[in-house]
Amino acid sequence: MGEQEQQTGWGFETRAIHTGQAPDPASGAVVPPITLSTTFAQEGVGVHKGYEYSRSANPTRAALETCLASLEQAAHGLAFASGLAAEDNIIRVLHQGDRVLLGNDAYGGTFRLISKVWSPLGFPWSAVDLTDVDALAVNWPPDTRMVWLETPTNPLLTCVDIERIAELAHLHGALVVVDNTFATPYLQQPLRFGADIVVHSATKYLGGHSDVVGGFVALDDLELAQRLRFTQNAAGAVPAPFDCYLLLRGVKTLALRMDRHCANARAIVDLLVGHRAVDRVFYPQLPDHPGHRAAARQMRDFGGMVSFTMRAGEAAALDVVTRTELFTLAESLGAVESLIEHPGRMTHASAAGSPLQVPAALVRLSVGIESSADLVADLAQALDRFV
Ligand SMILES: *Cc1c(COP(=O)(O)O)cnc(C)c1O
Repeated sequence: MGEQEQQTGWGFETRAIHTGQAPDPASGAVVPPITLSTTFAQEGVGVHKGYEYSRSANPTRAALETCLASLEQAAHGLAFASGLAAEDNIIRVLHQGDRVLLGNDAYGGTFRLISKVWSPLGFPWSAVDLTDVDALAVNWPPDTRMVWLETPTNPLLTCVDIERIAELAHLHGALVVVDNTFATPYLQQPLRFGADIVVHSATKYLGGHSDVVGGFVALDDLELAQRLRFTQNAAGAVPAPFDCYLLLRGVKTLALRMDRHCANARAIVDLLVGHRAVDRVFYPQLPDHPGHRAAARQMRDFGGMVSFTMRAGEAAALDVVTRTELFTLAESLGAVESLIEHPGRMTHASAAGSPLQVPAALVRLSVGIESSADLVADLAQALDRFV
C-alpha cells in the first residue's frame, strides 16, 4: 500500500471524516475496523490484497495515513509510533556529514535527538535564528542538507516565514522540514509554502484528547516518500492499530476543535493583555508579536497556545500555575482540556543555561475547548492574587 487516494474536491472537514474511511466493503462498518491481525492470507505466493505483515502495512494505519495526508493536501503520508519516531525516520534520509540547521528554539526532544543521538554518529548541526533570514543568507553553513523549522514555536510562539526559508534552503540544495504540530493542517499547510516534508506530533492536536502518542509525516515527492516508507518498515517505529483508530477518531473533529481553541485563546489573551499581574503576552495574533506578519500570511488563525510572563517574577509564575482549577498543571498540549505549566522548570528545564533557555517568569497555557467564560474566570482568580 502507501499510494494515497486520489485527491477529491472535498473540503477539509469532509476529508477529515471520510477520506481513507469509506465503509468497510466486507461488513459495511462505517468506522474503519481496528485490524489487529499481524499477518494476512495470500492466495498464492506473493498474491495478496496489499497486506502481508503489519509492520510493513496495516489497514487501520493505511486509513490514517490516507486521511492525514489528505488534510495536509500531500501526495504521501506515513504514520509513526510517536512524533520523535517520525522525526528520527526523516533524519535517516541524510548521509554522514550532512548538516541539520534547526531553529534556536526547537522543541527540546528534537534538539536532543539531533544533538545527542545523531550528532555523535557524524551528523553536524547548528541552531540558528530562523526569523532572521537575511543573516542566515549571509552565514549559510555550506554543508547544510536539511533545515528543520517549527512555526509557531514552543513556548514563545515565534513564527518563521516558511516561504522565505524554503527559497533560501532550496537555493543551497537543502530540504525543508516543518514541524506543524502547533498549527495543525487546519491552520497551516507548509507544503503550500514550499516545505518538502511536514512532521507532526500527532500526540497533540491531531489526537486531541490526551490519550494517544503518535507521529506523522506528509510529503509530495515520490522518491523521498519511498525512502521514508522503506525506513518506516526497516526501522519499524510504527503505531499500533488501536492508536491509529484513536487518531482517526480524533481528527474527525479537528476543525471544530481548532476553531474553538483559537476562540478561547483570544478570550484568554484579552484577559491577560489588560491584567496588572501580567508583564508580556505571547500570542501571534497580537500586532506587537514579532511573528505576527508571518503568522497572518501563512496561518488561517493563530492557534490555542498562549504564553505570558508574570510581572512579579519567577516565584509568582511558579505559584500561579498551582492556583487554577480548570487549567491542570501538566506538560503536553493540544487536547480538549486546558493545561498550564512553567516551562523553565518543566518542559524546558533541560534548556537551562543554553541558548534555548526561557524566561523564568514565563507561564504557558494550552487553552482547551471548555466554556470560555469558565476558563477566563479560572485564570482571572489565579492572577488576581498578584495585583
Ligand atoms: C510533543 C512534540 C514533539 C514530539 O512528539 P512526541 O509525540 O512526544 O514524540 C515534536 N514536536 C513538537 C512541536 C511537539 O510539541
